Amino acid sequence: MDHDIFLKIINRDVPADIVYEDDHCIAFYDIAPKAPTHVLVVPKKKVSKLSEYNPQTDAEVTHAFTQIPKIAKLLNLDDYRVIINCGEKACQTVFHIHIHIMGGQSLNWPPG
Ligand code: 5GP
Repeated sequence: MDHDIFLKIINRDVPADIVYEDDHCIAFYDIAPKAPTHVLVVPKKKVSKLSEYNPQTDAEVTHAFTQIPKIAKLLNLDDYRVIINCGEKACQTVFHIHIHIMGGQSLNWPPG
C-alpha cells in the first residue's frame, strides 16, 4: 500500500484543483498555500526527492522541470519563485518529488 498523497491525486483517488496535466506530469494548487498563487508540479513517475533524481533514467522528472514556464504563464504569473525542498531538514514533507511555483505577491529574499 503506497501512502503517497501525490500518487493518489494523480490516480484521482484524492481530489485536487488541477491546473495542468499531460502524460508525464500534473500541476495542482497547494492545499495550504504559502503565497496567493501556489501550485505544485509533480511528475507522474515517483522519485522520492531531488537527490535521488537521475537525469539518465528519470525523463518524467526532467519533463516536469521543462513545463514550469508554461504552467506559470497559464497562472498569469510574470514574476514567481520556483522551489524544490529536498530532504527533511529542507522542510520536504511529501517524498514524491515536486516543484513549488509561488507568486502573486512580492516575495522576500532570502526565504529563510
Ligand atoms: P514539501 O514540504 O514536501 O516541499 O511540500 C509539500 C506540499 O504539499 C505542502 O506545501 C503541502 O501543503 C502540500 N500538500 C500536502 N498534502 C496535500 C494534498 O492532499 N493536496 C494538495 N493539493 N497539497 C498537499
